[in-house]
Amino acid sequence: LPCEITVRPLVIGGRRGAAVVIVDRSRDEHTEQMRRDFVANVSHELRTPLTALMGFIETLRGPARNDAAARDRFLDIMEREAGRMNRLVADLLSLSRVEQDERSRPAQRVDLAALLRGEAATLAPAARAVGVELRFEGIEDEVLVPGDADQLVQVFHNLVENGVKYGGSGGVVTLSLTHIPHEPVLRGPAWSVTVADQGEGIAPEHLPRLTERFYRVDTHRSREQGGTGLGLAIVKHIINRHRGRLKIESEKGKGSRFIVILPDGSSRI
Ligand code: ADP
Repeated sequence: LPCEITVRPLVIGGRRGAAVVIVDRSRDEHTEQMRRDFVANVSHELRTPLTALMGFIETLRGPARNDAAARDRFLDIMEREAGRMNRLVADLLSLSRVEQDERSRPAQRVDLAALLRGEAATLAPAARAVGVELRFEGIEDEVLVPGDADQLVQVFHNLVENGVKYGGSGGVVTLSLTHIPHEPVLRGPAWSVTVADQGEGIAPEHLPRLTERFYRVDTHRSREQGGTGLGLAIVKHIINRHRGRLKIESEKGKGSRFIVILPDGSSRI
């Protein structure tokens, strides 16, 4: 174990001895290692689109200089790569903001039912465009929880987007809201929002690591779909800030369910 040991002389009741203080530094080392990995990952993620951009700039200056068709094709690719960098930087900023915010609890109350209905309406056209039907099965009444509306929108936006991306064309993504009278881990009443898809599912060995930054089951597929690998990390931090929990259930070939459980604050604020 990485640790720090100091020995100090000590006198107790006239008797001389020594105190040995052992400080376990393994957590510090772990944090430091995580930080190093994160910086290495960010650099790598930024370098991939940057290398492509530089390559195409060179080609446009050189061999493709007078080829109008090639120029249009390369500009399209360059736009896509620049878009990827843009999304990555936006997600990094979001992540750092939600990590900062985690120390304070959200002070407002949010109508969860209205928020979900709004999200379903906003995201349905984009889902339909790739052959996915998005449904909201919920509650008509107001459902108040202590929360930050912008952050909760981000949670459900990321989860629905993943359901649509990984759910496969022709499928249905369902957003549903239910009440839990007594949630055992939160030890009280709670609201549960399930985002369910009918995609290929996730093998059990990946489930515990899905919310790690940059963890992807299939990196190539995620990149192809424009993913940054940060969506679920952002989701996890926002839910932590709301003192909630995230459960992920999935069966290979059947689909996945991302369940967000938020404390029912209606009686507390
Ligand atoms: P990404 O930007 O890659 O989608 P996320 O953090 O949102 O990053 O998700 C991490 C990984 O978890 C994804 O790359 C994908 O492999 C997996 N994943 C997330 N949601 C689903 C889902 N609904 N079905 C299958 N796999 C999923």
